[in-house]
Amino acid sequence: MDERYAFTVEWYDFNASLTRRYQFLYFVADNTIEMYDIKNRRTFLKRSKCDSVCLSDFFIGSVINVHSRQLTIVDYADEYTRRQLSEVSERTLAIIKPDAVKHMGSIIDIIHNEGFKVCRAQMVHLTRKEAAEFYEEHTGKAFFENLLDFMTSRPSVAIELMASNAIKKWRTLLGPTNSATARLEAPSSLRAKFGTDGTRNACHGSDSPSSASREIQFFFGMRRQSTAQFTNCTLCIVKPHAVAAGLTGKIIENIEKKGFTISALEMFNLEKANAEEFLEVYRGVVAEFNQMVVELCSGPCVAMEIRADDAPRVFRDFTGPADPEIARHLRPNTLRATFGKDKIKNVVHCTDLPEDGLLEVEYFFKILQQ
Ligand code: UDP
Ligand code: MG
Repeated sequence: MDERYAFTVEWYDFNASLTRRYQFLYFVADNTIEMYDIKNRRTFLKRSKCDSVCLSDFFIGSVINVHSRQLTIVDYADEYTRRQLSEVSERTLAIIKPDAVKHMGSIIDIIHNEGFKVCRAQMVHLTRKEAAEFYEEHTGKAFFENLLDFMTSRPSVAIELMASNAIKKWRTLLGPTNSATARLEAPSSLRAKFGTDGTRNACHGSDSPSSASREIQFFFGMRRQSTAQFTNCTLCIVKPHAVAAGLTGKIIENIEKKGFTISALEMFNLEKANAEEFLEVYRGVVAEFNQMVVELCSGPCVAMEIRADDAPRVFRDFTGPADPEIARHLRPNTLRATFGKDKIKNVVHCTDLPEDGLLEVEYFFKILQQ
């Protein structure tokens, strides 16, 4: 039988300023899709091939790109789909705590290798009030104030993870609460590898389905202020093809090793209009402008504020020539030489002109936040 999944999706129609709802069918065998307009009761898109999606893109909250439209999956549309997919799409909240943010590249790489999908991610700097609310259950305990001091000392990275049995699987990967105990009892766990002591233990993980939904809501239920500094900065975007290929961790690892500071980070799903606006300076200048736009909104990307002295110039040097083939010949140690495929799938966007560093950081961390 044809394996088929059904969803309800929403698309925000900018021209009409309204949200449209469709029933969306996905046929696994031949990677085809079909869309039905619920309100007007008619076929909206007849069954056709769609290479920009695959089965792992289909989960609630996911944004998929179909013919340059960003569709948000808001629900399962039949019991079969709910039964089959809710099992493999359990969510949990992970936090890379302040002591381990310097290792976030390695940690994100491990997250990918262990089979988790990153649904959302954002670097945040918790206030004392927020940290106290998040750790409410520990109010009054001896370590509470200490824990708040630590959690508010510097930024953390909140990540919504998805996998089959995600909650338990992530807790196992974390290891025991105390980093020293972890090094004795579970030496390959994250807390053993990256944790410091009993309080500064590298990562957090929800402990039950109800805390997972509370904690995911806590971080991602509202817009949070970014940690961007807007000085000595440049913008780096891990492009959608590289995020999909699981290269985010390795790319960040390389950036960290080179001594750059990553002072803001967030996963975005860009609308085509935003991608065009952001890349506007390349229109008419770079022959591949349209392909660049299509790539940038083809799936989630990860934007980062990178800080260093003379950041735009130094970081651009480290990114390497736009064409990875050329990069491999001329600048073999650059990001694009190491991970790039072709001129469009060249793993990262980086700010080109020194005077644009701040503007590009502002585009993602100010303008898109509104
Ligand atoms: N913690 C601490 N001292 C302790 C126990 C916990 O400082 O004796 C901190 C530690 O950072 C831990 C957090 O408080 O991760 C929450 O404690 P919990 O017992 O919920 O551990 P977890 O669920 O994080 O493993
Ligand atoms: Mg806990």
